[in-house]
Amino acid sequence: MKTVYTHDPHQAGDYISEGKLVVFPTETVYGLGANALNSQAVEQVYHAKNRPPSNPLIVHLRELADASRVASEISPHAHLLMDAFFPGPLTIILPRHRSLPDIVSGGLDTVAIRMPASSIAIEFLWAAKFPVAAPSANLSGRPSATSWQSAAEDLNQRVHCILYGPAATIGLESTVVDCTENPPVLLRPGAISLESLACVVGTISTNVLNKNRSPGMRYHHYAPHAKIVLVSDTSNLDVLPRSAYIGISTPNHASKWMKCFVATSIEEYCHHLFEFFRECDRSKISQIHCEEIEPVGIGHALMDRLKRAAKSSK
Ligand code: AMP
Ligand code: MG
Repeated sequence: MKTVYTHDPHQAGDYISEGKLVVFPTETVYGLGANALNSQAVEQVYHAKNRPPSNPLIVHLRELADASRVASEISPHAHLLMDAFFPGPLTIILPRHRSLPDIVSGGLDTVAIRMPASSIAIEFLWAAKFPVAAPSANLSGRPSATSWQSAAEDLNQRVHCILYGPAATIGLESTVVDCTENPPVLLRPGAISLESLACVVGTISTNVLNKNRSPGMRYHHYAPHAKIVLVSDTSNLDVLPRSAYIGISTPNHASKWMKCFVATSIEEYCHHLFEFFRECDRSKISQIHCEEIEPVGIGHALMDRLKRAAKSSK
């Protein structure tokens, strides 16, 4: 399949309206979208990514009013979270509307909804006019794509259209909160921190008792080809051949690393992480040392991704 590249959200909207696949930018990571109400279109998303069919997709909405088209019930906690954080990097799990195809939810009786804040994403969703089911725009198991070039690296000729725009400002996937439970349960940390969620709904549980509720967490994730090594003391690292470093502290022998990225803030560390993993793969790096940070605020999400990447790369 030939992939069309465009910066016009309306042209991309035309493609998705014809049941085709469109990669589009958001503030978290790039998404790989299909019409959520068209099961054949959604099936192609799983195929293009090699995604296991039991790992459900997030439904992207252009406005709050669309939530009732895909969810059968919106709890008071969900209303509070939507008021506080939509549009933004938060995904909420709700009971699924019966008119939403099963395949979007990987067979679960729930649906994940999010309203992105990125203006180009919102323009694209308005051009599409229907809810868009979209996971991250990468091949399954690879680091999420945070730029259109990285999405193209994985999905060129596997999708009909790539709507290119700016690099994702946040660079980590959305926070996921299950609002079918009381208190709500954090399924995946993201830029909307546990602390800010708790400010809005009081209590948030981090104890995922029902593992079937969080299928995404069962799979390997975020893994570059290189081995990931998490480090806390960056002053005494062995610089092996073909190794790289990313963190917020300057490591020892900074000039000897084949690749070295010292971020000026935790936010910049998050923003750059997946792109750094991909750059390391392009340069055939064999080991990436990643500095551990305190797991608070967005640091919680960063440590979650680092630990998963380390586990997947063993
Ligand atoms: P991705 O957009 O690639 O980060 O993938 C979407 C994430 O949302 C995955 O971790 C999914 O498992 C999760 N997700 C989507 N729908 C649901 C749902 N109904 N219940 C729980 N998690 C979900
Ligand atoms: Mg993903």
